[in-house]
Amino acid sequence: MTCLYCVSEAIVKNGTKTLKTGQVRQGYKCNGCGRRFNEVSGTPMARLRTSAEEIGRAMTSRSEGLGIRATARVFGKSPSSITLWEERLSAHLENWSPSAPAGGSVTLEGDEVYTRVSENLSPQ
Ligand SMILES: [Zn+2]
Repeated sequence: MTCLYCVSEAIVKNGTKTLKTGQVRQGYKCNGCGRRFNEVSGTPMARLRTSAEEIGRAMTSRSEGLGIRATARVFGKSPSSITLWEERLSAHLENWSPSAPAGGSVTLEGDEVYTRVSENLSPQ
């Protein structure tokens, strides 16, 4: 996984937290930017106003080969929104399955999404 903030891969586990529901969330600390986050704050949908369902459909379109701009047009979003969703999801995909029960299978393939994002962005 990568950092929620700086996309660094220098992530270390930083304790766990037990929620009221009894679920245990793994905490993480980024050695790249020093920020801490956990599976809750790292939920891809945490700061997105679009529904998980809509994002899921958009990401499915992307995984089917639709380009970022085309996906943005189809869903009435800006290309930067699509890119943001992909960044969030590629970093946290293993925790993201809005339509599946906890522990269920995830339908998107993170590596594939991440690779396509990289290919579609201009070199830094
Ligand atoms: Zn970081």
